[in-house]
Amino acid sequence: MTFDLTPEQDQLRDAVRALGRRYGHGYFVEKAKAGEHTTELWAEAGRLGYLGVNIPTEYGGGGGGITELAIVCEELAAAGCPLLLLVVSPAIAATVINRHGTEEQRKRHLPGLADGSQKIVFAITEPEAGSNFHRLGTVARRDGDDWVLNGRKCYISGVDEAGHVLVVARTEDSSTGKLKPALFLVPTDAAGLTRSKLDMEIVSPENQFLLYLDDVRVPADALLGESLDAGLPALFAGLNPERITVAAMGAGTGRYAIERASEYTATRKVWGGRTIGTHQGVSHPLAHAAVQVELARLMIQKAATLYDAGRDLEAGVSGNMAKYAAGEAAALAVDTAVQVLGGAGMTTEYGVATLLGAVRAGRIAPVSREMILNFVAQHVLGQDKSY
Ligand SMILES: Cc1cc2nc3c(=O)[nH]c(=O)nc-3n(C[C@H](O)[C@H](O)[C@H](O)COP(=O)(O)OP(=O)(O)OC[C@H]3O[C@@H](n4cnc5c(N)ncnc54)[C@H](O)[C@@H]3O)c2cc1C
Repeated sequence: MTFDLTPEQDQLRDAVRALGRRYGHGYFVEKAKAGEHTTELWAEAGRLGYLGVNIPTEYGGGGGGITELAIVCEELAAAGCPLLLLVVSPAIAATVINRHGTEEQRKRHLPGLADGSQKIVFAITEPEAGSNFHRLGTVARRDGDDWVLNGRKCYISGVDEAGHVLVVARTEDSSTGKLKPALFLVPTDAAGLTRSKLDMEIVSPENQFLLYLDDVRVPADALLGESLDAGLPALFAGLNPERITVAAMGAGTGRYAIERASEYTATRKVWGGRTIGTHQGVSHPLAHAAVQVELARLMIQKAATLYDAGRDLEAGVSGNMAKYAAGEAAALAVDTAVQVLGGAGMTTEYGVATLLGAVRAGRIAPVSREMILNFVAQHVLGQDKSY
């Protein structure tokens, strides 16, 4: 057993950290408040190869795994730049296309995802179905060589920045008459695909949208994979990378908040010559949050290692646990940081309250803490399914 990164992973961590710090949380917040995107940071990360670390070299990537992508997510977040689209585009979309797309789809999409010139976002959530994807109502109907999609999606991140949306739909299975999931690569400018931006209480340069699919016609090769049978495995292929990278983003955000708070409490003096960090009422909550973040990081490392070793089922358990632990730890760390900074904690300048919305959302999305507890209760504790 080893807890050490390889020399290459160490180098990657240091380089991404340096890039993140060059931009920093001030840049992230400024972009968010101006309604702009972190275009420069994304482009530079793409140029340096960080967005494609998990994509095979033959498609322009770095040939690494989810361990490497988790490092990128964590270090950018630890520098105050938690980029949700890392989870959506390189983690979910690139993995799904690489593992279950056709060779033509891999060649068409992966190089652009690797160098950051292309983003593909992911649309599964629907207003009616919510956490229960078995109730998905977006339907794909075959019409000659084309597919025609109809339905509604909600909270879809980054549609305004992406060239394609990977849409999860259902299609009539001719052999059984039942509906089964199928994934489609739909261009964001397709006729019949419209969107409206949701007002979210999250300080973020990335936006969420309602998506309306009204008779969206796409050619046969928009269907992900060789046949309809690719749908279900492709859907599941995205889950582990999603959980592991979103957990890494949470852990990085937690580290960032604890670092900001520790710097402050180690220097702020309001009772004579002693810093406020001398008081255990201040230092213990911070130390507690640091323990929770570090525990989450261990589970992320385990999940990523299992995933990269091809042990998908075990990675599923660890990935869910990592996501749960990191979501809770990040929320705790940011809330604690705000508290120990006192009034400064609520200012934009000190850069911690700006993360409250994001870490709160991290306990809901992309999978809620309750659905993870359901998963653990059922698959680890052997309880009957409760829903
Ligand atoms: C910032 C943000 C970005 C997002 N980006 C995307 C995206 O890019 N693409 C995408 O497809 N989706 C995205 N989502 C949607 C996100 O994945 C969903 O919000 C999440 O899965 C929960 O679904 P819901 O909102 O419909 O909640 P609901 O399913 O309505 O659940 C509401 C509450 O009930 C609880 N609950 C529901 N069922 C059960 C049960 N059986 N047992 C116990 N508790 C239960 C849930 O845990 C939750 O607390 C995003 C959401 C946010 C907030």
